[in-house]
Amino acid sequence: MSPARRIDGKAIAADVRADVRRGAEALAARGVKPGLVVVLVGDDPASQVYVRNKDKAAHEAGFAVRTLTLPGTTTQDELERVVAELNSDRAVHGILVQMPLPRGLDAQRVIERIDPRKDVDGLTPTNVAALVTGRPGLRPCTPAGCLVLLDRCDVPLEGRHVVVIGRSMLVGKPFAFLALERNATVTIAHSRTTDLPALVRGADVVVAAVGRPELVRGDWIRPGAVVLDVGINRLDGGRLVGDVEFTAAAERASWITPVPGGVGPMTIAMLLSNTLESARRDAR
Ligand code: NAP
Repeated sequence: MSPARRIDGKAIAADVRADVRRGAEALAARGVKPGLVVVLVGDDPASQVYVRNKDKAAHEAGFAVRTLTLPGTTTQDELERVVAELNSDRAVHGILVQMPLPRGLDAQRVIERIDPRKDVDGLTPTNVAALVTGRPGLRPCTPAGCLVLLDRCDVPLEGRHVVVIGRSMLVGKPFAFLALERNATVTIAHSRTTDLPALVRGADVVVAAVGRPELVRGDWIRPGAVVLDVGINRLDGGRLVGDVEFTAAAERASWITPVPGGVGPMTIAMLLSNTLESARRDAR
């Protein structure tokens, strides 16, 4: 078995972003500029970096983007009022509330206040229901990005056994439903799963979204399987690794995403894509 081909998430994300920019230009010619507002509550340093990156990417795509920074003392009512104002602002097509919120704020209640048509993170109950029932809607960015990576590498899912490790509402569960929509046979594993190695050994496609450095050992990977590593883990020395033991897994897989430079860059690309979709719908 020859070593896996790397899935170049950086290059694929750049392609998606270039497509989005062209789409935004076409829309601007019709008088609509995609509008994105990122809401940041508090001063968590990691969140500040994520928000800056989103802001920069949206600028580069030609969007009207604004970061609304609220103090860490913001109350639930105040935050929900801000969301309500953005819901009724015609120039805003996408609202993203950066997570995690400071302690004391109920993230789910805030998400539920976002107009589903502007829910570019795809997390409101309306969009979750649309995903589960196979109806159109805005899909969560990271799992949607995983699907684009598979499509760009011509990896079909129909009839394949996909093992998703992790059942979060942000990644694991939505990816499982996206894969089901493509007629994959899906198994979702989690912290109570017994014999994870055996499950992974039977997988044609493995999606690891756990947050445990190199939990998935290379020798679990079936020769020729496709591996998407969503995990981002910083080791003590500062090095970033995924949830998969990359070097050993790459010896067996047919395709694999590196960390960094695999799934990571797709998240912002899909955020832009969702915002453009929302602006296009508004312009119809
Ligand atoms: P999360 O909400 O913490 O969920 C982790 C999931 O992993 C849970 O379902 C948990 O099971 C499961 N799990 C924990 N230990 C396990 C074990 N030993 N065996 C099997 N399953 C186990 O995390 P998340 O938000 O989905 O994120 C997962 C990872 O992806 C993190 O590293 C995060 O940083 C990364 N991430 C990356 C991007 C990106 O842009 N690339 C975006 C989002 C997240 P239980 O449900 O039983 O607790």
